[in-house]
Amino acid sequence: MNPPAYDLYREKNPSLDLARDRLEIDVCVQHNNGGLAVDCWWQSTALTGFFPVGEAAGAHGVYRPGGAALNSTQVGSMRAAQWIAARRQGEPLDMTAFAAVATPAVENAGAFLAHAGARIADGDPDNTGVLLARAQRLMSERAGLVRSAQGVRDALRRVRAMLTGLSDRMVVDLSSRRSVDRLFLLRDILTSQFVYLSAIDDYLRRGGVSRGSVLYTDAAGLLPEEGLPESMRYVLDDGALDEQVQEVALRYGADGEVAVEAAWRPRRPIPDTGDDFFENVWRDFREDGGVR
Ligand SMILES: Cc1cc2nc3c(=O)[nH]c(=O)nc-3n(C[C@H](O)[C@H](O)[C@H](O)COP(=O)(O)OP(=O)(O)OC[C@H]3O[C@@H](n4cnc5c(N)ncnc54)[C@H](O)[C@@H]3O)c2cc1C
Repeated sequence: MNPPAYDLYREKNPSLDLARDRLEIDVCVQHNNGGLAVDCWWQSTALTGFFPVGEAAGAHGVYRPGGAALNSTQVGSMRAAQWIAARRQGEPLDMTAFAAVATPAVENAGAFLAHAGARIADGDPDNTGVLLARAQRLMSERAGLVRSAQGVRDALRRVRAMLTGLSDRMVVDLSSRRSVDRLFLLRDILTSQFVYLSAIDDYLRRGGVSRGSVLYTDAAGLLPEEGLPESMRYVLDDGALDEQVQEVALRYGADGEVAVEAAWRPRRPIPDTGDDFFENVWRDFREDGGVR
């Protein structure tokens, strides 16, 4: 630890000397390195005209250079804006065409809400908060930084069941904005959980082991340090999948069933930009804003 940090800690906590005492810590997730697939202008590769910038974009790999998350939000937003300014100058969709696309989605949301809201009249209590907390707890317990294949599969089965029968399970108070918000929030969260758990399950089925910031428990593996629980034995990744990128797609069947398809593709090479000294880059920028 650097001396000023050590001194500051000592000053604020006189009873604790970090040179001698152990510090109890807790861990939280700092960044999601996966995300929606985008090209180098942060345009979705699945949906033209959709630019998911920031942490929503899958712009990092298993590892991410520390501090690069905020830079990525700024660089991604800037590049998306440059592309939009250069290439998407046409008129927006007219309202009739927009309504044709949007109306089924709005009707679908309305029907979902009406169904979940119907049972409150029978005296059933609002359960949106309870179900939301349960979904969040399940993911922390089964897919946090220490996981097991069994735990992941169990969570996947439970999330699939919750997602499939969601509007039958939920009791929404239609007079409460919070309750209505939670219905859609829970659907979004469960959908994301289903995608991530399916991706993790696929990784494990391909022989994936501990890497990045995740420890997959393995009784045949090593214990990171004496004194830790036996459940923390793990096998360290040997880089076998380093050149591969996992991509998954969420599909809805006609019967409303959800499924995730996973595929692996080779990592794209780092582009050889060649002659990119300042005069060339500046000339290109003046010609077309660097968008090509
Ligand atoms: C503890 C911690 C420390 C970190 N330290 C660093 C660091 O030192 N350096 C670094 O580079 N990165 C760091 N990061 C990561 C970085 O902060 C994030 O990756 C980055 O802020 C993500 O930016 P974003 O705009 O994509 O998303 P967010 O900053 O999460 O913004 C999303 C916004 O959308 C809003 N929102 C969500 N749902 C809805 C909705 N339905 N309607 C309207 N609004 C909605 C949210 O309220 C939020 O304001 C840290 C993260 C954490 C948690």
